[in-house]
Amino acid sequence: MIYKTDPQMISPYLKDASNFSGGSADKVIIPESSDELINFLITNDCPITIAGAGTGMTASRIPESGLIVSLERFTKLGDVRNGFIDVGPAISLAQLNEHLVSTKYFYPPNPTETLASVGGTLATNASGSRSYKYGVTRDYILEADIVFADGKTVSLKRGLTIKNPLILSDGQEIHFPNIKYTSPRCKNAAGYHIRTDMDWLDLFIGSDGTLCIFTRIRLKLLPRPAAFISGILFFNKEEECWSLVDSIKKSDIKYIKPCSLEYFDIRSLRRLRNKFENIPLNARAAIFFENDIKSQKDYDYSLEVWIDYLNNKGVLLDDSWFAQSPNDLKRFHEFRHAIPVLINEENSRLGRLKIGTDLAVSDDHLVHMMEFYRDELEGSKIDFVVFGHLGDNHLHINLLPNTNQIEKAHEIYKKLVNQILEWKGTVSAEHGIGKLKKNYFLQMVGKSSLEDLRTIKKTFDPLLILGKGNIFD
Ligand SMILES: Cc1cc2nc3c(=O)[nH]c(=O)nc-3n(C[C@H](O)[C@H](O)[C@H](O)COP(=O)(O)OP(=O)(O)OC[C@H]3O[C@@H](n4cnc5c(N)ncnc54)[C@H](O)[C@@H]3O)c2cc1C
Repeated sequence: MIYKTDPQMISPYLKDASNFSGGSADKVIIPESSDELINFLITNDCPITIAGAGTGMTASRIPESGLIVSLERFTKLGDVRNGFIDVGPAISLAQLNEHLVSTKYFYPPNPTETLASVGGTLATNASGSRSYKYGVTRDYILEADIVFADGKTVSLKRGLTIKNPLILSDGQEIHFPNIKYTSPRCKNAAGYHIRTDMDWLDLFIGSDGTLCIFTRIRLKLLPRPAAFISGILFFNKEEECWSLVDSIKKSDIKYIKPCSLEYFDIRSLRRLRNKFENIPLNARAAIFFENDIKSQKDYDYSLEVWIDYLNNKGVLLDDSWFAQSPNDLKRFHEFRHAIPVLINEENSRLGRLKIGTDLAVSDDHLVHMMEFYRDELEGSKIDFVVFGHLGDNHLHINLLPNTNQIEKAHEIYKKLVNQILEWKGTVSAEHGIGKLKKNYFLQMVGKSSLEDLRTIKKTFDPLLILGKGNIFD
């Protein structure tokens, strides 16, 4: 076991990709094996927060006090077998992708930030551009070894449903509490995932670092598509961009089945122009799309169908970019990844606060949602940027207030939340609640549902020491 007690050594663990600055910890504890972790937990009663790679957006890995447990030594990367792979939680998505490159498989969930650890992506049930077709992290977890805050353990597999008790390694049986709450049906990462017919695994995935510690994970892999048709489409009218996405989503054309539909507003494009200078000057919005192709022989025909489809849909076809090679596709992914990074850099440079949303609604509200965002944001006189997963009706609005506008920015955020909740949406579709969205989560689910979730928390962590301050006050 490694211990870090020097404040300078602890300070990198008190950061993530949020603005949160209220972190404090007495020690960082780095177990080198599951046994070391378990032995430590059996005698510990201090608050502990698990550190992943620190790319989270909600300060969920930053403790307000107590100890940090980092699983950075859990770096096992197994062999690919029959469509699955066993990994340690500290393996990053970049390491996983690199490992898979020479195989016929790929791991579909692709949260934009590949430095994220697999353990962190389980805790947040991360999703990304391809989640539009392929689903979220939860859909790709076949098994996990987990450790609870008191050091008890269980190995979970698919098919062990909450209708039956969870039997821990020491024989203890835990029954799923009798609660009323169920999770919303839209893309959602707010609070625990609760469905009456779910597996136990589904509860722990997306539990925001508050229910358990993942120590081994078996990931499901899919056969790698033969190719991707992909492009960045530019529009000089944003409405045309929104309605194209709406029509693609409703399309029943066999070859128009994208796996990514990612949006960039004019303010994103202005910032991206510094890195990608041939963004057309008259573009007011853009879409990055990818359509996976199972067999190379379908590629040319599918591309023709796409180009035909895009004709007369308001796309600036001559100025849009289409991938001609895997390198182009890589560059388009860099284009997508660059926008949150540029905004984070800009905020650090200017010492400016970012108020970022993670709201989503169901399909029927897509165009209304966009109109509503535009009207509210443009009327606000606060700088803002909008980008993200339009295919999932899930955009990240970054409000960038100057120091005099912070209160107003929070008011705007509240207004957006009120409307999204009116449409039965969620306050977090992929980043989780952590320490930053607790009020909005309470507004979303109400007091009695929050109590239901607290009952679950107490079932697995009676001392309330794991991930303290996340989801619950
Ligand atoms: C530029 C950028 C783009 C991003 N884009 C996306 C995106 O498209 N989609 C998306 O979903 N997210 C995105 N994110 C957010 C982030 O990458 C994810 O939330 C990611 O899942 C966090 O992983 P991490 O290893 O960095 O976790 P951390 O930030 O270290 O921790 C996150 C949570 O996981 C818990 N945790 C970590 N490891 C374990 C473990 N082994 N067992 C139990 N709990 C654990 C922590 O306690 C904490 O609660 C983005 C971030 C950045 C910086």
